[in-house]
Amino acid sequence: AVGLIQRGMGAYQRIGQALCLPAEPARTHMPAVRPRTRVLTRPAGPQEKPALALEDLTFGYDPDRPVLRGISFTAPHRSQTALVGRSGAGKSTVFALAARFYEPDGGLLLFDGRPATELSREECRSRIAIVDQNTHVVHGTLRANITYAQPHASEAEIERVVELAQLSDVAARLPGGLSGMLGERGGTLSGGERQRVALARALLARPSLLLLDEPTSHLDAVNETALTAVMRDAAQECAVLVIAHRLSTVQHADRIVVLDRGTAVACGPHEELLATSPVYRELAAGQILRPATTRSTGPHPTHA
Ligand code: ATP
Repeated sequence: AVGLIQRGMGAYQRIGQALCLPAEPARTHMPAVRPRTRVLTRPAGPQEKPALALEDLTFGYDPDRPVLRGISFTAPHRSQTALVGRSGAGKSTVFALAARFYEPDGGLLLFDGRPATELSREECRSRIAIVDQNTHVVHGTLRANITYAQPHASEAEIERVVELAQLSDVAARLPGGLSGMLGERGGTLSGGERQRVALARALLARPSLLLLDEPTSHLDAVNETALTAVMRDAAQECAVLVIAHRLSTVQHADRIVVLDRGTAVACGPHEELLATSPVYRELAAGQILRPATTRSTGPHPTHA
């Protein structure tokens, strides 16, 4: 999946949101998690179309070997949709199609109800921000790392995303605050903090749809809680579609789409799927998804 994302990296960088998460180093000082960001929300209107919809979508890298087979689901505005499935189920391929690195062989991809084919690739990409597992944090100030794709962002906008991405404590900790320097590859930050810098950068663009490939590497409890809070708050502003690897994420998602060999076999909230979907039960039993952690930071994550 990372390879697939990397192949599209040029395009990601053009939209300026490419982010990622190197392996999580052990840390002892973690930021306190901020209380829920207050964001003014407007309930979805009855006529409002989902930010992203897949309708009977079929796709294969090799047309003779379909990877997505008639997949349908939606990612509505101001809500969090989690995508789960075994390795190879097609989760990253959904992202690649949403970013229009590839075109479907059949079915429809719709942005706000409009077929993707009626929009230019640039228009589609301008609606989305992608945060994958390859976070780019460079030597420079925290502010520059957040704004490099939006150099003219206002202070108010920067403050908004710093709060939204739970980075206030990072800014407070750095000498110079937002103007404080981050080391090479963001060396002064933990993996979770680097990812939140990436999220802040993505959210600065006010995307209609945030595509997040959740880190598979270990996050300590504080960073995991912070990530959960960022996703929850981001989902008050836009549609969040997350490739989920953690129970804590799926438990907070408004809906979970279960992919199995390229088809969406179930969709619903966690408890409902536990009761109704054998594939989901297997994932949640720990074979794929990892439990919400209360573990202390350690070098050996307990992969399920
Ligand atoms: P993972 O959880 O391991 O990342 P995934 O659910 O994201 O898996 P995809 O990466 O979308 O799955 O892959 C779905 C299928 O498509 C797999 O069989 C994979 O080998 C294949 N595939 C992915 N990318 C390519 C590619 N660029 N060319 C050919 N086949 C690919």
